[in-house]
Amino acid sequence: MTEFYVDLHVHIGCDSTGRPVKVSASRELTFENIAKECFYKKGVDIVGIVDAASPGVIDDIESLLDSGEMVEIPGGGIGYKDKVVIVLASEVETLEEHKGHSHHLILLRTLDTAKAFSRKLQGCVSNVFSSTPVCQMPARNLYSMAMDIGAIPFPAHAFSPHKSIYGNCIRRLHEAFPENILSSLLAIELGLSADTDLADTISELHRYTFLSNSDAHSLPKIGREYNVMRLESASFDEVIKALARRDGRQVVANYGLDPKLGKYHRTYCPKCDRTFNYETPPVVQCPECDSTSVVKGVLDRIREIQDYPVPRHPEHRPPYLYQIPLEFVPGVGPRSIDKLIERFGSEMAVLHKAKEGELAEVVGEKAAGLIIQARNGTLPLVAGGGGHYGKAVIENG
Ligand SMILES: [Zn+2]
Ligand SMILES: [Zn+2]
Repeated sequence: MTEFYVDLHVHIGCDSTGRPVKVSASRELTFENIAKECFYKKGVDIVGIVDAASPGVIDDIESLLDSGEMVEIPGGGIGYKDKVVIVLASEVETLEEHKGHSHHLILLRTLDTAKAFSRKLQGCVSNVFSSTPVCQMPARNLYSMAMDIGAIPFPAHAFSPHKSIYGNCIRRLHEAFPENILSSLLAIELGLSADTDLADTISELHRYTFLSNSDAHSLPKIGREYNVMRLESASFDEVIKALARRDGRQVVANYGLDPKLGKYHRTYCPKCDRTFNYETPPVVQCPECDSTSVVKGVLDRIREIQDYPVPRHPEHRPPYLYQIPLEFVPGVGPRSIDKLIERFGSEMAVLHKAKEGELAEVVGEKAAGLIIQARNGTLPLVAGGGGHYGKAVIENG
């Protein structure tokens, strides 16, 4: 078996006619450009495109298949240049009764499954063209609808404050899902502000595989979080086997941001415009103005609902390795990033493989040193909150 780099949560910016799909996503993010970026720059082998139930995107996929630019592969998924496999997917927002909104990803095996899901979705959302269409039904109905057509649903960025199942809907999964759904659920997505250590303080999550995906809304952010999966080959069926940890297929590592770098790691008070970086979690109301309308940090939320003060990892849990994407490394701008990728082949190779001396030949000693510090986890970080990323801080000089 072989190890594959897998990022299952990437948004489309617009379809090939220029009609926007996700308003906040970059216009360079077309179906075809995502495949090219993975192939030429990122070294991502399997990429999940989460707007594949949008009719404009379905049209694009159809014409890429017609022209022979891409092909449907036998195990499910869309192949590009014998190297990149695209997993079709859809991100949908649901609403619990008397509770909050949450986001969910649905993996779709073939273009036909994507079309079938798109048709079903059109019956319950107001705008199927938009990315992350909002349906006015609880998550369990969406999951039943998806499972009926053989699609694979799971919670997206499960702890984020505004739109997630633990973030603002429930404290335990059975409050939202019946046991037959919980026992066929395979995975949850951690989101940028959480990691395995945090999520494994909640015992009901021990049975599920954790995914670390980028939720990229622009090309450079593809692969800022990803999963390493051991698979027989790159296909939808193999990915699902890995999520189920079946026949030796599995996620063997999660690579993600240090959760401090995520946009919602700590609680933020909009009234005081402050993120509470140094206060002991959980911070559930503003320590300054006592307001309870705070944007609760992922760390704070998890501390609020955890079963254990320290993580207890189940035996199957793979390591979670921090990576700091090049764009977070101080002093490494877009031009340096291009030069590094040209020299080493992909961002993954720059982040994890290139030697310090080789890096220095391209970007100088100082920047090379910072890339190595980022790799070793010794770059000092300030936590993010309230929608602002955390950042690396370096001493002057
Ligand atoms: Zn989302
Ligand atoms: Zn998303």
